[in-house]
Amino acid sequence: MTYICPICRANFCSKHCDAWWNPDTFNYERSSWSLATHCSDHFDKWWNPNKYNWRDSSWRLAKYCCTYFDKWWNPNKYNWRDSYALAEYCHDHFDKWWDENKFDWEAGSRELAKYCSNHFDKWWNPTRYEWLFSSTALAQYCSQYFDKWWDENKFNWQNASWTLAKYCYMYFDKWWNPEKYNARYIAHLEQYCAEYQAKWTSLKLYASLTA
Ligand SMILES: [Zn+2]
Repeated sequence: MTYICPICRANFCSKHCDAWWNPDTFNYERSSWSLATHCSDHFDKWWNPNKYNWRDSSWRLAKYCCTYFDKWWNPNKYNWRDSYALAEYCHDHFDKWWDENKFDWEAGSRELAKYCSNHFDKWWNPTRYEWLFSSTALAQYCSQYFDKWWDENKFNWQNASWTLAKYCYMYFDKWWNPEKYNARYIAHLEQYCAEYQAKWTSLKLYASLTA
């Protein structure tokens, strides 16, 4: 579905919005995405919560229309599969949208850790947090809350060991476990945890013997 501007021939032209915009004929089902993406400057002109395609394009509201958050936000209409976009683009409005029961932890844990770390105490839930692919984000972006989230049984040592060495070296004695640290990431120990070398050297020896 295209809406060509009669003046400059561009599709979904924001500059000459008045020349092609017609709320009665616009196909919200198929083209809501273009309004949020290209015409956020004219938000008040096209916004219609009953016609907007929340199913496919909720994340575009979060990404492109964050300035108008208070006008469009509706927890019952927003597609929570796009939870990650709220965390990534609307963290300034965190208190308005946060709902731990509606939030999609599978798809948005990483963004919570990365973009909402200053709200850590409000959202942290070790049972709901997605540890498999998002352990790295905890170590990288929430290291100041290490004591609150650290759980050696939940942390994904397999793919995130290196983030402990790189971002949480100051807590080395709290997390270090030669049985669990992934020996593939010895280089990170050498680079960031040199002062603890006496403690991890045995792992290095073990890795070189089994390589
Ligand atoms: Zn135009």
